[in-house]
Amino acid sequence: MSNCAIVGINWGDEGKGRMVDLLTQNYDIVVRYQGGGNAGHTVINQYGKFALHLLPSGIFRPGVVNILGNGVALDPENLWKEMETVAGQGVSLTPENLMISDRASLLLPWHRQLDELEELRLKDKKYGSTKQGIAPFYSDKYQKKTILAGELMYPEKLKEHLKDLLEWKNLTITRVYGADGWTMEQLMDWVDNYCEKIKPFVRDTGSFLRKAQKAGKQILFEAQLGALRDLDLGIYPYTTSSNTIAAYAPVGAGIPGVKIDEVVGVVKAYSTCVGEGPFTCEWFGPEAEALREAGGEYGAKTGRPRRVGPIDLVATRYGVEAQGATCVALTKLDVLSYMKQIPICAHYLLNGEQTDEFPFPLALNDARPVVEYMEGWGTDISGVRRWEDLPRQARDYVEYVEKAIGCPIRYVSVGPERDSMIVR
Ligand code: GDP
Repeated sequence: MSNCAIVGINWGDEGKGRMVDLLTQNYDIVVRYQGGGNAGHTVINQYGKFALHLLPSGIFRPGVVNILGNGVALDPENLWKEMETVAGQGVSLTPENLMISDRASLLLPWHRQLDELEELRLKDKKYGSTKQGIAPFYSDKYQKKTILAGELMYPEKLKEHLKDLLEWKNLTITRVYGADGWTMEQLMDWVDNYCEKIKPFVRDTGSFLRKAQKAGKQILFEAQLGALRDLDLGIYPYTTSSNTIAAYAPVGAGIPGVKIDEVVGVVKAYSTCVGEGPFTCEWFGPEAEALREAGGEYGAKTGRPRRVGPIDLVATRYGVEAQGATCVALTKLDVLSYMKQIPICAHYLLNGEQTDEFPFPLALNDARPVVEYMEGWGTDISGVRRWEDLPRQARDYVEYVEKAIGCPIRYVSVGPERDSMIVR
């Protein structure tokens, strides 16, 4: 029996969704263990192209059970809309292949509003939030001021609980931000329109997973965002508000005793970053524009142009260690084919000294990239399926990165489709 986590090594958008979509063929269960609808996993398969925000990427595989664990920010409105879209494209969603943990906390309607109000208040000091309510949600979860999905089974208690929360939250919305508060009627509409729809999928997934574990089922843990966005280990405060690292997977999935045998860390062949915060290897101008265009680097959720730059070995090595990655999937190698020379951010320069240590978040603002170049391969590699068929320069690049980050690169992807993959 083996369990596996698929996690991001960098700032997110590394291509985790396509890796989960590919690897689910070997697993019985896929669990999302953290985060909410604030990022998007792009998956392309026989049903079409999907930007999944909350649904686990195993949803397309018949026979795979998909679970939203207790660690996720469960947004009933966004989840239901996403379920309708995916079902509308011919994918079957039933309580047998999609389960929601009764211990997952609900992202309430005011969380999105508060996210927006706080970013407005911050003006040019904003965090670059996707305004999906994630930070207000997690703050409230840790203050024990939200609702568990399982409470939907107790309508009278739920109403009472919502009333208490409404009274408390309206104080902040109206007095601190001077905005319009919520009414009980609006909240009950939200319950009827969205929560009631997802209710049939809510169950004790902890118990289900414990039994599955005993029966020898193989579990895949799916993360959102990357190591550098981890609340504790990332570029705080430009992190997300949850733990994206594999070490959190057993907790966020609701089976804290589970052993994760394999951690597949997903790394892009170059760097991208959405939102604010230090991004040492960042490119600007026409060079950046060309890479952004070549890689189609626009946010799956927001459509925002992503910040781009060469692969960052300092950040990637740190990410590999933070994730405890046992192997790496290097994605989008095909995107670099247009370059004559392949740039690599090999080290940082900090306070006049070269370093390979990822600095404390505040010090990152002063770090400068030390860029080296390798020979490009100058030919389309998107049709290549075997390692030995890759141009020598492309193999050299992969091997150089592998050595520098200290982790075997087992997968190299050369296109977005399910089979555009080289397994070494
Ligand atoms: P995730 O959130 O980590 O799943 O990543 P995203 O879905 O936000 O970003 C990955 C993007 O790159 C998606 O549009 C994928 O279809 C695309 N993609 C993934 N792997 C490859 C690849 O090897 N080559 C190319 N050209 N595109 C890829």
